[in-house]
Amino acid sequence: VDTARDQLAALVARASVVLPFTGAGISTECGIPDFRSPGGLWTKNAPIGFDEFLASQAMRDEAWRRRFAMQSEFGAARPGRGHRALASLYRQGKAPAVITQNIDNLHQASGIEPEDVVELHGNTTYALCLSCARRYELVWVQERFVAEGHAPDCPDCGGHIKTATISFGQAMPEVEMRRAEALTLRCDLFLAIGSSLVVWPAAGFPLLAKRNGARLVILNREPTELDHAADLVVRADIGTVLETFVSS
Ligand code: NAD
Repeated sequence: VDTARDQLAALVARASVVLPFTGAGISTECGIPDFRSPGGLWTKNAPIGFDEFLASQAMRDEAWRRRFAMQSEFGAARPGRGHRALASLYRQGKAPAVITQNIDNLHQASGIEPEDVVELHGNTTYALCLSCARRYELVWVQERFVAEGHAPDCPDCGGHIKTATISFGQAMPEVEMRRAEALTLRCDLFLAIGSSLVVWPAAGFPLLAKRNGARLVILNREPTELDHAADLVVRADIGTVLETFVSS
């Protein structure tokens, strides 16, 4: 770990624009399980696809019941060492932004301005009407759920209300995809942290960075799909490796 950390520190020191790209692995030390590790979320429930969510009230009720259960389990999660390290690089002006596949809002909670967190898969800490895009807070949805006995629709337009996340089968957010691409083309060091790099199109960004001439570092405790393309693979615990970058 020490050698890998030194190599990573040297690459960061030499780089002018560092672009962190994060997956569920950066949040596991905060108590939020990832999808694919043993004990991960998918070993419990298959995810509800977008079409299924649209297709029936029963599925929407199920999706919201799961969301409320997750809120009591993980709602109090706080940023970990990985998040704090990236926030330090951001404050130092080394990293202009963070691209994340995570939906847990922990990069924002670590002090990165919301406009500098590019969320490829949305955010689960609030909800949107799928028709008129009005925002709803989870507390409101839960109160309505309890009062009505089922997931509420939008009082304004009747549209379905869903967490502001991107489900399988749902279109990727265009603005975020374009911002992620522009950032990727600007960086000279791309750090892929805690992602199995199997979910596309998100997994295309590390490869784009590499093709554009940036160095690619992959930090993950297990092998990933793109290790073959990396300049440096650090196979270790994220918090342990990144804590040296935390500055107050
Ligand atoms: P993933 O579960 O496919 O991969 C996570 C990777 O992180 C795994 O390869 C695992 O080995 C590694 N990892 C876990 N803890 C680690 C640690 N402490 N140190 C080093 N490596 C560690 O997650 P993904 O690639 O982000 O893709 C899954 C999708 O799941 C994403 O699109 C995301 O939207 C969603 N998701 C988000 C959260 C969250 O917001 N925290 C949690 C679960 C899933």
